[in-house]
Amino acid sequence: MTSNLPIDGRRLWDDLIHLAEITDPAKPYTRRSFSPLFDEGRLWLRQRFEAAGLETRIDAAGNLIGRRAGSEPAAGTIMIGSHSDTVPSGGRFDGTAGVLAALEIARSIAQSGTALRHNLEVIDFLAEEPSEFGLSCIGSRGMAGVMEERMLAYTDPSGEVLSHAIDRVGGNVSALATARRDDIKAFFELHIEQGLVLQDGKIDVGIVTAIVGITRIEVVFKGSADHAGTTPMHLRRDAFTPAAKTAVFVDRVARELVARNAGLFVATIGIASVAPGASNVVPQEARIIIDARSENRALMDEFLARLDTETAAFAKESRTERAVFARLSDTNPTACDAGLRELLRDSARALGFSSTDIASGAGHDAAFVARIAPSAMVFIPCRDGKSHAPEEWAEPDALAAGTAVIAEAVLRFDRLDA
Ligand SMILES: [Zn+2]
Repeated sequence: MTSNLPIDGRRLWDDLIHLAEITDPAKPYTRRSFSPLFDEGRLWLRQRFEAAGLETRIDAAGNLIGRRAGSEPAAGTIMIGSHSDTVPSGGRFDGTAGVLAALEIARSIAQSGTALRHNLEVIDFLAEEPSEFGLSCIGSRGMAGVMEERMLAYTDPSGEVLSHAIDRVGGNVSALATARRDDIKAFFELHIEQGLVLQDGKIDVGIVTAIVGITRIEVVFKGSADHAGTTPMHLRRDAFTPAAKTAVFVDRVARELVARNAGLFVATIGIASVAPGASNVVPQEARIIIDARSENRALMDEFLARLDTETAAFAKESRTERAVFARLSDTNPTACDAGLRELLRDSARALGFSSTDIASGAGHDAAFVARIAPSAMVFIPCRDGKSHAPEEWAEPDALAAGTAVIAEAVLRFDRLDA
């Protein structure tokens, strides 16, 4: 374990392993938001926050927050954190690494006797992963003031209403507006990369440039169900043919956009179905869903325009109809704050760690916090890019390095304009 760091990597690691053990024993590692195990994890976290001398509360949006007031409280707040909930059969690092890194930073700064000018807050955002209510980033949405009324009425399979569930974990939906913050001067989130860039490049930390925007498009082609043996090729109206051409097109254009080096772009067709779905029947209907992600909205707009034109053309060529071309969801990319990125880069250099710019292909709480405050993220390498699985792994030294970089950046930020 690297020693001369501004944090205690051993203590951080022990915390991480301890929280990971609060799991459904039959499905490690599972600590779903709003479940009894989630409450248990939070109770333990709360005790750890308090043991670190943090004044601890749950805000109206259900976020667990530990705070130490600064010497100049009017200077505003530096916030650090992530989420403690997991996907079913997830890992030990996604989210929890960021919460416990934040705790370790607060603890180390206090123990070093350094008095920050800013208030320092450590946060565990409520339900970052898609919850049983079909919604993700519940706490950070609430903090950003973008939780919609209709979302609060979502129900889980047991019939519980989301607003009730938020109250049940200590939030207060009737006062949700109080969760919205205007005092955060900087937000930092540490997270495992969930990809291979850092491991392959043997780089200590990734400094996130932007969190991708995600657009999901549903396309349905309609043709005619005919006998696969007796219908000649030139008389067919095969709905799968334009869908297959679309798949080839999506792959080709995505690679073309990547080659422009104008930011991350990825596109996937993860859902495809044909009806009626018999080996001896020409498909009457084909439905695909395209998930496209980019940190550059211009690339996304070009992709969507070309997808629209080409899918219409593919339908025409195969004498089918493009019955549906719908945006199921569409979010813009979120840029991380340039000043905080610079600070993180300098901090990494000062501590002797290598760093690289990297886009986040996954969503994070920081994307919501960025709506109300300058926000930045540090990625640490994770083994073989594996995440949302029990094999998820980050080395103790990697976790310590990423945490130390944020600790250093917090100290530097606190001294700016002093
Ligand atoms: Zn996460």
